Amino acid sequence: MTTENQAPMLRDVFALANNAVTLTGDLPIADLTRMRPELTQTTGALHYTISGHLNEKKYPLLHLQITGELSMVCQRCLEEVTQSIDIDNTLHLVANEADLDSEEDEINAILAGDESPEKIVGSTSFDLLNLLEDEVILSLPQAVTHDVCEKTLPTAAGEKPSPFAVLAKLKS
Ligand SMILES: [Zn+2]
Repeated sequence: MTTENQAPMLRDVFALANNAVTLTGDLPIADLTRMRPELTQTTGALHYTISGHLNEKKYPLLHLQITGELSMVCQRCLEEVTQSIDIDNTLHLVANEADLDSEEDEINAILAGDESPEKIVGSTSFDLLNLLEDEVILSLPQAVTHDVCEKTLPTAAGEKPSPFAVLAKLKS
């Protein structure tokens, strides 16, 4: 087993698995280009570990861990919110699209209670940065918000009486 410390880049992911290579390093937040519109700060970095290995069936696997914090916009109050990232996921590398599970296979696996890792198509020049960014995006909640917002927007319910309440008053 070897450990390398460097920025994620194009790698032969099958070789990482076959040789049990672990890559660790910092993922600069400024490199998360697809996420940039959602971020309020692009300084700093997330920390990642990518470990390749073969399982008992000799399937090539990539184990990904990503930790850190992102500064984003709260979807409820529009103030800045710190979203912590703590990803721990294992992916099964397959050679081509035909080896990916069909939707039917996936449903059957879920029905059978089979928790086998998600499959992705690997390659000899696989974009690890793109994969890490995919994992970060997939890990985010549908709407990033504070647990409890400090301020409420003026559009929040309660200020304006509903037209039905006004009508009821007129009638009485
Ligand atoms: Zn908020």
